[in-house]
Amino acid sequence: MSAKIYPINTGFIRLDKGLYITGGVGYGQEVEVPTSSFLVTDGTEKILIDTGMSDTRRADWHHPGSYQPEGFRIDEKLAKLGVTPEEIGAVIFTHLHWDHCANTGLFKNATFWVHQKELDFALDPHVLYYKSYESENLNVEAPFKDVTFETVDGEYQYNDFITMFPTPGHCPGHQSVAVETERGVYVIAGDAVFADQNLEPDKHRNLPFTPMGRYVNVFEMFESMEKIIDRADVVLTGHGQGVYEQEVYP
Ligand SMILES: [Zn+2]
Repeated sequence: MSAKIYPINTGFIRLDKGLYITGGVGYGQEVEVPTSSFLVTDGTEKILIDTGMSDTRRADWHHPGSYQPEGFRIDEKLAKLGVTPEEIGAVIFTHLHWDHCANTGLFKNATFWVHQKELDFALDPHVLYYKSYESENLNVEAPFKDVTFETVDGEYQYNDFITMFPTPGHCPGHQSVAVETERGVYVIAGDAVFADQNLEPDKHRNLPFTPMGRYVNVFEMFESMEKIIDRADVVLTGHGQGVYEQEVYP
């Protein structure tokens, strides 16, 4: 069987549209977005891209009003697909923000993959990002704290259908995951392409897509979006509703 991709909604985050999604448009507009992980399988290997967001208590601390409905935890969602956490052989992280790496302890048989730069920054974040990475300076414990990682330092072909490639900008060591399917290349973009609106043209600035509002480096963010859109036949976003138009891809 050729590779299939299952989008998994692990909960909802409330955030300011202009600040996070469409930079410069929609400031002051509070929106609610899903937080996606993806199961990728060829029928034999089962690989998870991100493990999703935390429970409601922690989510509400990050972004007031955010919540994880009952049954939305990653293992509960996997169960609905007939998959146990023990069956996951690898977890590939797009990045280590709190809403992408909760519940790592559930995956006893998995190897965990992340970009080296992202791991370095996550373990010692800038004060502006203490909350995003659940820094111990805030007396909380990040879910990646005790994880042993395999790290990559550039484009890396994981197997014959999965390739990780660097897409920094949203955070220092962000990476995206290209999945080769029988109907072309699907790129799981993480937060390098935040939501559906980012794939629409930016008419004000005459750009083919709409740059995001949240980033550590605006130029890298722009280049990464270009790179993803160029490489992908289909882009699967980190916080867009559009990925739920299908239960499975392709
Ligand atoms: Zn996110």
